[in-house]
Amino acid sequence: MSAKILQGKEFATIIKENARKKVLELKEKYGTAPGLAVIIVGNNPASEVYVRNKHKSCEELGIYSEVVSMPENTSKDELLNKIDELNDAKNIHGILVQLPLPESISKHESEILNRINPKKDVDGFHPTNVGKLSIGEDALVPCTPAGCVKMLELSNIDIEGKNAVIIGRSNIVGKPMFNLLLKKNATVTVCHSKTKNLADITKQADILVAAIGKPKFVTADMVKEGAVIIDVGINRIAPKKLVGDVDFDEVKEKVGAITPVPGGVGLLTVAMLMENVVKAMEMQMKSED
Ligand code: NAD
Repeated sequence: MSAKILQGKEFATIIKENARKKVLELKEKYGTAPGLAVIIVGNNPASEVYVRNKHKSCEELGIYSEVVSMPENTSKDELLNKIDELNDAKNIHGILVQLPLPESISKHESEILNRINPKKDVDGFHPTNVGKLSIGEDALVPCTPAGCVKMLELSNIDIEGKNAVIIGRSNIVGKPMFNLLLKKNATVTVCHSKTKNLADITKQADILVAAIGKPKFVTADMVKEGAVIIDVGINRIAPKKLVGDVDFDEVKEKVGAITPVPGGVGLLTVAMLMENVVKAMEMQMKSED
């Protein structure tokens, strides 16, 4: 069997085009573009690349973008003050703090993220948004899992009634993915590092999501014939070589559809961030109308 390769670029283009149209509509209606502020503390080279990509995407789509670079030795209070300022800024509709934070303040991560006004929380990490998602209310949802579900929808892959298995229970990927798939009426199982007989469970999956952070962890003997495989993992195994959590070459011979790494889910994350910034402005404007 030859699997359909779900190319992230294709879906990211659709999501961004849709966001671009909404930006124009918002500008026309309210006379102002959606605005995103990204706070980066310190000089983590990987974070700097991510922040640049976010800024570039905003510019492409007509979203106002502010990158707030703060020095490595920024104190918790200085960062909280900056967040307060951005919470009050009328031209900023989305705020995110790029993670990881420097070691000196990383222990305050929850307090820092929780300071963001939930209406501007475009990463979807604030407990208010987490709670709303879990009770099925409209919320700002973490970009990576939201992108995975969007990709399934845009590919016309049925979710309702399907057995979906997620490997990984992080707050950023696994748990929101559980809620999103449940909302789409899948029967969802979440596996993690303490799960026993993992392969017995993953072999039942019509849709298998791997978010583990271990290179090529999911092998062909762990998947069902014809399944849909979403590989969230990004693992650097050599200076210029990224692989996913799934053994792509082996697994693609057995399944119906699969995302590659690189070139799969990773490309959707920034596109979904753009969608979230637009959504945040729409929600804020609606509550002011
Ligand atoms: P995490 O380290 O927070 O969580 C990993 C999860 O895997 C944990 O819940 C753990 O219980 C589970 N796990 C670990 N070993 C296991 C085992 N042997 N069997 C079953 N479960 C096991 O990671 P995360 O933040 O959820 O990220 C997961 C992967 O996704 C990483 O490779 C990360 O780089 C990638 N990621 C990609 C994007 C993107 O934009 N595409 C975004 C976020 C994360």
